[in-house]
Amino acid sequence: MTYDYDLFVIGAGSGGVRAARFAAGYGARVAVVESRYLGGTCVNVGCVPKKLFVYGAHYAEDFQQAKGYGWEFDAQARFDWSTLVANKDKEIERLNGIYRNLLLNSGVTLLDGHGRIVDANSVEVEGKRYTARHILIATGGWPQIPQIPGYELAISSNEAFYLKELPKRVLVVGGGYIAVEFASVFNGLGALTTLLYRGDLFLRGFDGAVRNHLKDELAKSGMQLQFNADIVRIDKQVDGSLQATLKDGRVLEADCIFYATGRRPMLDNLGLENAGVELDGRGFIKVDEHYRSSTPSIFAIGDVIGRVQLTPVALAEGMAVARQLYKPDEYRKVDYSMIPTAVFSLPNIGTVGLTEEQAREQGYEISVFESRFRPMKLTMTDCQERTLMKLVVDAGTDRVLGCHMVGPEAGEIIQGLAVALKAGATKQIFDETIGVHPTAAEEFVTMRTPVSA
Ligand code: FAD
Ligand code: NDP
Repeated sequence: MTYDYDLFVIGAGSGGVRAARFAAGYGARVAVVESRYLGGTCVNVGCVPKKLFVYGAHYAEDFQQAKGYGWEFDAQARFDWSTLVANKDKEIERLNGIYRNLLLNSGVTLLDGHGRIVDANSVEVEGKRYTARHILIATGGWPQIPQIPGYELAISSNEAFYLKELPKRVLVVGGGYIAVEFASVFNGLGALTTLLYRGDLFLRGFDGAVRNHLKDELAKSGMQLQFNADIVRIDKQVDGSLQATLKDGRVLEADCIFYATGRRPMLDNLGLENAGVELDGRGFIKVDEHYRSSTPSIFAIGDVIGRVQLTPVALAEGMAVARQLYKPDEYRKVDYSMIPTAVFSLPNIGTVGLTEEQAREQGYEISVFESRFRPMKLTMTDCQERTLMKLVVDAGTDRVLGCHMVGPEAGEIIQGLAVALKAGATKQIFDETIGVHPTAAEEFVTMRTPVSA
């Protein structure tokens, strides 16, 4: 049997582009189909524009803090939302072009349109059928909003990147990455921001000290936090504003209600049933440890398999599939342990390894080291923000099991520590490492007294 392509990739997002480029580089004949935007969620409505918005929001604090260093401004700083959005759009367009060139220069055939699986070795795009020895599904995810009455009046992160104006009052619903990050953006840019979460405390799964520290810092920055709160209906009022009725009967008013309540796999009209591709119990594509679906010629990676919904993980999975198929001597299984991650709230969270709670649950005897301090940069300013750093150490082996931080540049700092943890660094190695002075990061190698053991 001859096929049009060796590999047909559906979705040119983080994982799909990486797999396509590397497969083509290893000599495979590759096509990729994309229905919406090159670079996928991360580039268009995810990591990149989000981080640009976070940078934008941080200027408000920077201007305030600059005064302590002798800077005076003749006029009051004013913020223009449409400039931020337009410049962000320009940057995204530039990145879309880079992704197009990356694919074309690596010899990948790029098809614009919706890809639909017709059988185990064929995909249809805009009425034309293509055959391939292998198909890779990398279609990502899509925001999921609970269908309460009036849910269609709410927006998700997809729309937030294109709002015509900055809302005056925003209600952000959810307690995960996106909720906390966008609430920080809106709050930083000056909108009256309420973060509403159904549980006791947001960021379930993160270290307890981190969650509490961030709660305190967000509250200090003027954000309204409502825990154990759930919206049961949304109504539009005559003046165009929105009214959210909560489970406990309270009513909150806002100009924008933003839901960040998780993401579902993007399987719309994908034709999985035509090839017998099965889903797991949560509705994501079921794959084995090598990303092979229940149909042997079809693989799936990234958000659509719902393992760890992060861009670097989708990249690693894409690379793993390309190597497995076309460079088997270089193939290694993706190691899901010690994945570092950052939440780009203001202040940032950076974390890698086990939380204190997870370490205890897993039966470790642990020592916990913690440091809370006012960063040096803020000492000459009115800003009362405090930084948290925390180490979770296995008392038996001295191995550092987890590093956690809330504070400026936490994401940047945690990347280096992730290498140390991956290499199995002990607390003694941390202690023997000379600090970089004066930095906040040096605190990670100078914590000597455990707060609990
Ligand atoms: P995607 O990047 O979503 O790509 C899937 C592509 O497939 C899309 O382009 C889509 O249009 C296309 N597609 C879907 N169906 C079809 C079809 N039938 N035919 C053709 N094309 C199709 N991760 C981080 O690591 N750091 C962050 O800071 C971060 N911030 C985020 C912020 C937000 C607001 C969001 C929503 C996500 C963020 N993420 C972040 C998560 C990250 O974006 C995803 O984990 C990553 O994009 C997943 O890559 P993927 O290749 O699986 O899917
Ligand atoms: P998350 O899964 O992180 O969080 C979803 C939140 O919504 C949770 O707090 C959850 O509560 C809550 N929730 C779920 N269903 C409901 C409901 N019906 N009513 C009320 N609340 C509900 O999803 P996000 O949408 O924030 O982000 C999706 C993923 O994208 C993240 O998990 C992450 O992997 C990735 N991402 C990564 C970023 C980064 O690396 N910086 C930034 C943004 C996204 P509960 O905890 O109680 O279940």
